Amino acid sequence: MPKTVLPVPPAPTVAVAGSDARFPVRRIFCVGRNYAAHAREMGKDPDREPPFFFTKPADAVVDSGTAIPYPPLTRNLHHEIELVVAIGKAGSDIPVEDALDLVWGYGVGIDLTRRDLQDEAKRMSRPWDWSKAFDNSALCGPLMPVSEIGHPSSGRIWLSVNEEMRQDADLSELIWPVADVISICSRSVRLQPGDLIYTGTPAGVGALQPGDRVEGGVDGLGAITFEIASEGKR
Ligand code: MN
Repeated sequence: MPKTVLPVPPAPTVAVAGSDARFPVRRIFCVGRNYAAHAREMGKDPDREPPFFFTKPADAVVDSGTAIPYPPLTRNLHHEIELVVAIGKAGSDIPVEDALDLVWGYGVGIDLTRRDLQDEAKRMSRPWDWSKAFDNSALCGPLMPVSEIGHPSSGRIWLSVNEEMRQDADLSELIWPVADVISICSRSVRLQPGDLIYTGTPAGVGALQPGDRVEGGVDGLGAITFEIASEGKR
């Protein structure tokens, strides 16, 4: 290790189901629109667009079971439940038929979005970063290894707020399945062990308020829960 002028920041990690060992998070990639009904609710034609990506900083990741503060600069904080792919092997320009070989495991995540800032960014043709890449914006439940669960391609994906169902769909509705997402992402960057890919959210996104309790899950992949702290400082 080189000598550093400040302490080296701790590496972000997320929980692994049934283990004390944690998964080190290197980068977070997210697919913009990957369920037809959600693309339509955002005013887009799902048949026209190839998948596109945005990113969050690795240290935006938050374990399930956490209370997070309502983030600054927004009055329209949205939940997006998503299947999360945890990359375990490096690769670039990976063919679709080999793409799943890169996967270490899967989990359930929530892509928190400052929708009002995203709407403004779209209107002004500005980057999405301030709407997507803020502190505590990437919730992630315990990851499960492929050796235990294989590669899920169907199963219910859902999210409730204060026990009211908001998002309820099936992984089989993904426009671009996991193998395609990995293959396409690997054309732009060399994927590395520790990368997480949030694969997009189904329809039913909506606003969260301080005090809300959020639960979600994907069949066979466990659950995620968090709450928006009713008060307190960042
Ligand atoms: Mn999303």
